[in-house]
Amino acid sequence: MATLGFISFGRRGDLEHIERKGILYVVSAPSGAGKTTLCRDVARRVKNLQYSISHTTRQPRPGEVHGVDYYFIDEVTFQDKIEKNDFIESAKVHGHFYGTSRESLTDQIDRGVDIILDIDTQGAMILKKQYSEGVFIYVLPPSFEVLKQRLVDRGLDSKEEVSRRLQKAREEIWNYRQYYYLVVNVEYDNALKELESVVISERIKMRQMNLAWIEKTFIKQLSIKQDQSGDASS
Ligand code: 5GP
Repeated sequence: MATLGFISFGRRGDLEHIERKGILYVVSAPSGAGKTTLCRDVARRVKNLQYSISHTTRQPRPGEVHGVDYYFIDEVTFQDKIEKNDFIESAKVHGHFYGTSRESLTDQIDRGVDIILDIDTQGAMILKKQYSEGVFIYVLPPSFEVLKQRLVDRGLDSKEEVSRRLQKAREEIWNYRQYYYLVVNVEYDNALKELESVVISERIKMRQMNLAWIEKTFIKQLSIKQDQSGDASS
């Protein structure tokens, strides 16, 4: 039986039924589908859901903050971390390196904190091998044309970068079959609601429950009562 983690929110006494390890939610999408905003917003809305901050060698975009959006590090530091096995997964995406810290991920999962990761499909597939019980979610825009328009409109990338991202999207979309949920981001609020619903539904699956709590609170009580009524009638 898996070791139970400790839920770190609310009053423990009320939450005994969900005492368990954290759930890993892995979200991938072509660049420009709105995945990062969705992941961050859902983590703001749902208690005990932590957005995982990755390491990257890419330069910060205007407004991005070290330690908030990413840990921005240089390639030497990144390679050093790879050698030290500090990343649970890492990948080269659009010419830059990205990686997820092994320690912070496993630490939080073991403490019962649910984690949402916004990573590319290469990283997601690496994690799928290690966390087969993870929840893999794919986000798509309503069409390729909309994706292209969104990338141009957000004005974050050069023309060449937009073409590179579109090409990568064409290649990546084939991986959609590896995911368990699909959120199509036609209308943002609706997509957010869908992602939030996935997070919450996965939490209340029977396999996530502390079955010992059901046994202790209901089943044992019931059998004691049955025993007692049996005694009374004999
Ligand atoms: P951006 O540079 O636009 O923030 O992200 C580019 C791509 O890298 C996105 O698909 C994003 O999901 C992915 N990414 C961000 N962090 C990680 C990570 O830690 N690992 C992997 N494999 N991909 C990541």
